[in-house]
Order: sequence, then structure tokens, then C-alpha cells
Amino acid sequence: MRFISFRLKEEKRFGVWLQEEEIVIDLHSYYLDREERINTLLAFIQSGKQVNEEWQEISSTYHIPYHDVVLEAPIPRPAKNVFCVGKNYRDHAIEMGSEKDIPEHPMIFTKAPTTVSAPHEVLTFPKDMSEALDYEGELAVVIGQEGKRIAKEDAFDYIFGYTIVNDLTARDLQKKHGQFFVGKSLDGSCPMGPAIVHASAIENPHQLTLTTRVNKELRQNGSTSDLIFDIPELIHVLSKGMTLEPGDIIATGTPAGVGKGFKPPKYLTDGDVISIEIEGIGTLQNEIRK
Ligand code: MG
Repeated sequence: MRFISFRLKEEKRFGVWLQEEEIVIDLHSYYLDREERINTLLAFIQSGKQVNEEWQEISSTYHIPYHDVVLEAPIPRPAKNVFCVGKNYRDHAIEMGSEKDIPEHPMIFTKAPTTVSAPHEVLTFPKDMSEALDYEGELAVVIGQEGKRIAKEDAFDYIFGYTIVNDLTARDLQKKHGQFFVGKSLDGSCPMGPAIVHASAIENPHQLTLTTRVNKELRQNGSTSDLIFDIPELIHVLSKGMTLEPGDIIATGTPAGVGKGFKPPKYLTDGDVISIEIEGIGTLQNEIRK
């Protein structure tokens, strides 16, 4: 199932997107009619509910044509910062410096909840904010179950699903302020979506092709098989001393081909359209205004 958050005539809702049928199943209205307080996709994930048994009934009653909805980020306002992994693909670590930049342990930083923006949203980053705005196409994991000290072999039991994020980064601010946070947390700098694909629909998250195009020019062409620290390892490391909770998001890192990796660098300019595609998940597309 492809879970989405959307607006229908300005009303915020969530549901399941049946892509081939061009239909959206409105779970929001289903729970509202049952007076259950599940009014966001995040609340649905937190509730631990599954819709398998009721699916027949829900899908025959609560459907909306896809062209009537406007997609939001699946989790437009996460409960906490988005967890991110730096330099988690060998070739990307090298393009950011040299072989010495390949990390021995996962390099974790975060993006503020206010960074999350919608698929297809036009994002404005004035020049006086950053002159070196860069894209990073990434596979993101959405946690479905609370856990601490999660063993690698159990990690997949804690995953709700997978989505795409663009870890937009102001390289100049990232460098200037030493710590990554400021350069990684500009408002809107974490486009997410278009959907969270349920874990049961992704046979192997470590065998997915990831491409990023800027104005149709292929910039990143990677595979999640090249992750240095794979998904169980990231969940294991993060949960060692910190509780992971339903709705937590882990962006797993970006492959080679970011703007900074080119000589001269190819930073984003006004009107650039970034399309990130991950096999089995979809395409996340945003236009930049500078
Ligand atoms: Mg990144």
C-alpha cells in the first residue's frame, strides 16, 4: 500500500493511493465516521492499526478520484527532527573530499521538523540565504514500532515503510557554521514523498535504484545496495541509547553526484526542477526559486 497525506478542497486528509486506478482511499473519513481520533497519517502509524481486514469495506465506500487531491508530504510535521546519515555511500564520501572521508561509524545529523515540504511544492531559497544550495536524493525509512536496543536481525520488524526525501543542503552554511544543523535545516529543505510505501510491498530495500535529475540531466545514479551502513545497522546504532518511535524518519544518505561533487560545482539556481526517483517508491519532484 502507498500511504499518502493530501488536501481535498483545502481539508487535510490521509489515505491510500491506488496509483493504477487513479483513486485515493480516504482513511481519514473512515476513522472520522467511526469517531476514532486518527486524523493524520502520523497518528495512523502511531496507532499501530492495520487495514487488512476492513480493506474491502473501506475501499468500496471511501474513494476519491486522484485528480481531486493535492499531495502533502506523507508526514508534513514529524514529531521530532528527521534523522539523517552523512557520507553513507563510498563514492559520495570521496566526492565530498577524499578516501579519508569514508566514515568508520554512521555519521548522524538531523533536520528540523519545519524542513519538511510537499512533493511538487515550489521551494523558495533567496540568494542572501545561501549561494550554494545542493540536492541529495535519499531513501528514507519510516519507523512503525517503538524500540530501544534493537538487534540488527530484528530491525525490519520496526519499519512501517519507505519514502523519498531530498536532503537539500546549503553547502556554504554547512561549512561556515562547522556543525551541519544550520545548513541542513532551512525551511522547506526536506521535500518528502510522494508516498510512504508499506514495508510489505518492498521486497529488498537494499536493491533499489535511485536516480536524481536536475532539469532532466541525470546527476545521481545509485543503488541502495551500496549503502556503507545498511538499514538494520542504522536502526541498531540509533536505537542503542535512544528510543525510536513510530513516525520517526531516517534518511539513509545520498549516492555520488551531488552538485558539490562537480568541478566547478553545480549548485541549484532559479527555476531548477529536481526529480528523485526510487524504484518501487515513486518520484519526488520540486522546483526551486532563488
Ligand atoms: Mg544527506
